[in-house]
Formats: sequence, structure tokens, C-alpha cells
Amino acid sequence: MKFRQFLTMDAKRHFFNIKRNLEIIREMGVKVPDGEYLCPECLTPFEESEISKLTEEDVPQASLGGSRITLTCRRCNSNCGSLIDVHLLEALKTREQQEFLPNTDRKVSVVLDGQKLNANVEVGENKDLRLVVDTKRNNPKVWDDFRENKLLPNAVVNLHDAPLRHKQERVDAAIIKNAYLLLFAKTGFTVLSHSYYDCFRNVILEPDKYQIPIKLWTMPNEQIPKIPDGVFMSVNEIIKGFFVSFTLSLKKSYKFLVFIPLPGCDYDKVKKSLTNMKGIMLIPFDPQKDYIMEEKSIKELREWCGLEG
Ligand SMILES: [Zn+2]
Repeated sequence: MKFRQFLTMDAKRHFFNIKRNLEIIREMGVKVPDGEYLCPECLTPFEESEISKLTEEDVPQASLGGSRITLTCRRCNSNCGSLIDVHLLEALKTREQQEFLPNTDRKVSVVLDGQKLNANVEVGENKDLRLVVDTKRNNPKVWDDFRENKLLPNAVVNLHDAPLRHKQERVDAAIIKNAYLLLFAKTGFTVLSHSYYDCFRNVILEPDKYQIPIKLWTMPNEQIPKIPDGVFMSVNEIIKGFFVSFTLSLKKSYKFLVFIPLPGCDYDKVKKSLTNMKGIMLIPFDPQKDYIMEEKSIKELREWCGLEG
């Protein structure tokens, strides 16, 4: 993980925007920890003099085509990178490897007569396949045996994929993190200061320990409505809250749609409605409204969410 020593002007502006956001909601009587800025993931406070302790966070992660949109503390940035972001990257890589996309390679083992040879299948520009054996990754005797007796012309061998390297709950946490931070970049702590969202923060910080009770997001193979990337409000009795849509790019692009409910959400009812998305209308945020810095818009959004103050 590389940390950037100097913050750009945009990052500074983001710091002061969130500082103002916190001042406004505190004046409304909303309880939030003290501090000019709070890390959106762990809520650790930071003063202006400590701004260098914050890092610019790419959302989605840079390896999947994101851009820097917010500031998180170094610990969160580094932990999330190694704990969850790599798992999402691995999951998508594995998916692409299984499609034999051009210019990819895939770790396999060749199994014949109870013996196993480690190899790579390289997919060329025209989808031509090459089986490449790194002799260093194999017992020399096994390799000799395969070369001389087994990998003969017209021989049929079985290829097995190397074991998966990603954990699904960490992949899920990375998807949640993207949606949470995209919503944070639009609304600051206006809504996300509510303790209900601790469950999202816990999943992001400790994905092996905490999980969201139901699946609130789509996977790339699922049908989702055709909508651009962005944050939407949904108007529906049961599915009331925010939908965050974003695209992850590797060799191919993958669209994700994540539902972030309002506090007090009834997960059983939500589960039913999310599966068919019937009667759910998504309204994009009004670009004229600033839900971070404008008192009137902040009040409006909090009222819509049914939050006090
Ligand atoms: Zn943090």
C-alpha cells in the first residue's frame, strides 16, 4: 500500500466540507463524535493539524478503475486494501480466467494416473491456448515423467483449477464498502452518522466477524435495471433508502447495484422485494442540492429518511 504524503487541494476541500457538515448536523442536535473530520469507516476524529494522517481513498479501488473521492485514515485504507479489496479483485480475476478471455492466464494442475503437475494455461490474443509448465514449481522427477510418458501427442489430460484465493464474505464487504463510501461522498454524515450504519462499518472493518443479515447487492451475473453509475433515492414503502450503482473494470466491466436501507429496515420484507425489484422507482440526487454543506438540503434529506433533528 502506497501512502501519498501530500494532500491535493481537492482532498483539503473535502476535509473542510465534511467539517462543515459535522458542524451543521451538531447544531441540529445530532450526536456525532467530536473532531473536525471523522474517518468514515472507523469514525476516528482528526483535526486540521493531523490532515497528513488521512489518505485519499480510491472508490472503487484503483485496481478496478476507481478514482479518489474521499479521505479515510491510514489504518482503514491499509487494512481494507489487504483485508477486503484484494479479495474482490481476486474474485473478478477468477471469473475472467474461467471465461478464457484473451491475454489472461490461469493456474491449473494437470492430473494423470494419480500424479499432479503444476502449470499455467495462457490464453493468447486469438484465444489460442498454451500450457506452460514452470519446472521450478514441480518436482523434477514428476516433470520428467510427464514430459517423457504422459504429455504425449493426442494424450487426454484433466486440468483442474488452482484453489480459489478469495473469501466470499470479504468480497461482499468490499462491495458494501464501495457503496457506503460513494454514498458518504454525496451525503457526508448527514444520514450515515446514525448508529444503524455501524453495521455497515463493522462489516467493512471486520468482515470475518460481522455480516449484513441479508444480501443487499447484486452480483455481476444478475439482471439489474439499466441505470447509470451514481447514487439514487428509492421511493417504495418497503424498499426505502439509497441505491448505489457502480462499475468495476478489469478486462471486462461489471455493474453492481447495492441497496443501503434507512434505519429500522425490516430485512425480511426487504429481501422479498429486492429479488424482483418490482414497484421500485429510483430517483437520482438533484444536482442542485448539496446534502453535505447546505443546511436546507441536509434537513430535507434527514426528514425524508425519518431522522430526528
Ligand atoms: Zn479509519
